Amino acid sequence: MAVNAFLNSLAALCFPPRCLCCDQGLDGPTDFLFCPDCLATIDLIREPLCPSCGRAFPDAAGDNHLCGNCLRRPPHFTAARAVAHYREPLAGIIHAFKFSGRTFALASLARLRLCLDSQPATSSADLILPVPLHPRRLRERGFNQALLLAQAFFPAERHLIDPQLLIRSKWTPPQTALSGQTRRRNLKGAFTVTDPARLAGRAVLLVDDVFTTGSTANECARTLRRNGATEVRVLTLARVAE
Ligand SMILES: [Zn+2]
Ligand SMILES: [Zn+2]
Repeated sequence: MAVNAFLNSLAALCFPPRCLCCDQGLDGPTDFLFCPDCLATIDLIREPLCPSCGRAFPDAAGDNHLCGNCLRRPPHFTAARAVAHYREPLAGIIHAFKFSGRTFALASLARLRLCLDSQPATSSADLILPVPLHPRRLRERGFNQALLLAQAFFPAERHLIDPQLLIRSKWTPPQTALSGQTRRRNLKGAFTVTDPARLAGRAVLLVDDVFTTGSTANECARTLRRNGATEVRVLTLARVAE
């Protein structure tokens, strides 16, 4: 990780900044690596949306309202928000960040959040917790992308970020190919709070890279609430459309 960071900063010194999407050279020293054309293609999530799970209603012109899923099965988190839809070109950049360690994309990805009109307020969060990886997955990957994102999203609030309080104690197979119901069953009891006294009475902001079915965020929120958190809000970089 330290070597990666070193190489990334060396690369930044030797090569001018280039757009993360189209590789076109960008003007001047900048850490926002999107050219205006590519930035315009990133599908930011706009209202109206479900205030509970953050699902966007594509053609609706109306107000925010609860979606059918949240009405049927209210989640354990208060509100989830994502910055953008999980589509190209963003999906490819997130994939390269996560699986090829292109961590120099982080600052640009985190700054996309500032393009949103409204987002879950962080001012009232007492703790910012990344969705944890199982130690085995962490060893494979070398870093937790959710922790790096939390640090990039909230550089001034690093003291609130605690990657040790919520841990992933149960190994689960990769979730991508599974249905919502199977995901929920697999994740049951997958997370553990290491120090409930530290959590009691605290409002939590949970951070992850992608919100897919919401099963992971929901199981984290359930575990946090059962261990004394007053509320859990969720911020992800991207959200898979249903
Ligand atoms: Zn571009
Ligand atoms: Zn919803």
